[in-house]
Amino acid sequence: MDTDSTLYEWIRIDAKIVTDMPDADLGIASIESKNHGNVLWIKLDRDAHRIGFALNPKLLEKYPNGITQDQAVEEAIESMKPFKLEVQRLDWWTHYKIRQSVARSLQKDAYILLGGDAAHLHSSGFAQGMNTGIHDATNLAWKLGGVVKGWYKPSVLETYASERRGAAKQLIQIDMDAAALISGDIPKKFQGLGRTADQVLSQFWKDTIDFNLGLGISYSPSVLNQSPLSSMHACGVRCPDTLVRAPGINMPRRFYDTLLEDGATGRWSVVIFAGNPALTQARYAELREPAAKLAGRHKGMLRLVTLLFGSAGGAWAALNGAAVGRFYFDSDGQAHSAFGIDQSSGALVVIRPDHILGFAAGLDDMDKIAGYFDEFVT
Ligand SMILES: Cc1cc2nc3c(=O)[nH]c(=O)nc-3n(C[C@H](O)[C@H](O)[C@H](O)COP(=O)(O)OP(=O)(O)OC[C@H]3O[C@@H](n4cnc5c(N)ncnc54)[C@H](O)[C@@H]3O)c2cc1C
Repeated sequence: MDTDSTLYEWIRIDAKIVTDMPDADLGIASIESKNHGNVLWIKLDRDAHRIGFALNPKLLEKYPNGITQDQAVEEAIESMKPFKLEVQRLDWWTHYKIRQSVARSLQKDAYILLGGDAAHLHSSGFAQGMNTGIHDATNLAWKLGGVVKGWYKPSVLETYASERRGAAKQLIQIDMDAAALISGDIPKKFQGLGRTADQVLSQFWKDTIDFNLGLGISYSPSVLNQSPLSSMHACGVRCPDTLVRAPGINMPRRFYDTLLEDGATGRWSVVIFAGNPALTQARYAELREPAAKLAGRHKGMLRLVTLLFGSAGGAWAALNGAAVGRFYFDSDGQAHSAFGIDQSSGALVVIRPDHILGFAAGLDDMDKIAGYFDEFVT
């Protein structure tokens, strides 16, 4: 790892705390302090709370030999003023320096793979450490599983290293600004706006919220993320979640839940957006045979789903025959629209096992979908 050290040092204290701050048990609060940065206040399990604050250079000067537990508690009390704070029981505390780093490579000699804090380090400011580690695991598990099963060529495992290192670098970029702002400093690019560090931090949090929640992560083009050949928006991004309806019961269901059916963990979904059957029925009939061939070639690795625009009694009523794979109605067209697919043309969409969009082609292009898989399947 190439590590960038910062001047920032933070304290965290978990304790039974009595305070006159309003709504102290509501969940999470951020307190704009004069000398202790943007103070973190969190309701923890049982009767405990966590308080976190920054030791700025002036405070660090006060403690040339390092800060003791009692001094940390005193500074915590100071950081929350004008509210009163009484620490009745101290459960845990820590004092740490903020560093930012990403491993130069997340993969070595084919099967040595790094993830979690071993791959990337940063501040705890936007609460991303464990979250990013879980994203690493989610990205890696199905690729490693598929390689072990003999499904994939080595190029698939290599995308773990490139995709997750890219995301970690983006995280570090965000963290550099976040850590500075939480510590009470305004990074150069935000200076001259006439706003305080707390005000810039609040806006910065909003501007980066998609990434921080893990929903806005995107991956570069690769053997897995290829340019869509249909009207669909993009590949390498998380697939949209919308409501669809199962035939018969006709109850709304999250599209994401349908992707987890049939013991589908670790499997690909090829979704046939069948469009409006009045316009697409004949073309749909043509894809039954190549779809069955695709499913046969990749048995156990992928599943097929048909999503039809509108509603009908069932697949036979709408398509004049059986549906390919699992079957759902996109009654109000929200799924077609969220994926950017025209109901008059339909499309074929490949969704990776981690729900990232891999590829898309026209309704008549099942051979292109087969070609997509042939690039990385053994
Ligand atoms: C104060 C603080 C607050 C945080 N808050 C958040 C938050 O709100 N949200 C969030 O997402 N993240 C948060 N994080 C970050 C999060 O805790 C870490 O990113 C996460 O725990 C890293 O998990 P990991 O499994 O990669 O590494 P670790 O949790 O460090 O696990 C590595 C394990 O490997 C063991 N080990 C090391 N060497 C060896 C060896 N040679 N042999 C065998 N075992 C070994 C270690 O003992 C350890 O158990 C916070 C971190 C801090 C410090």
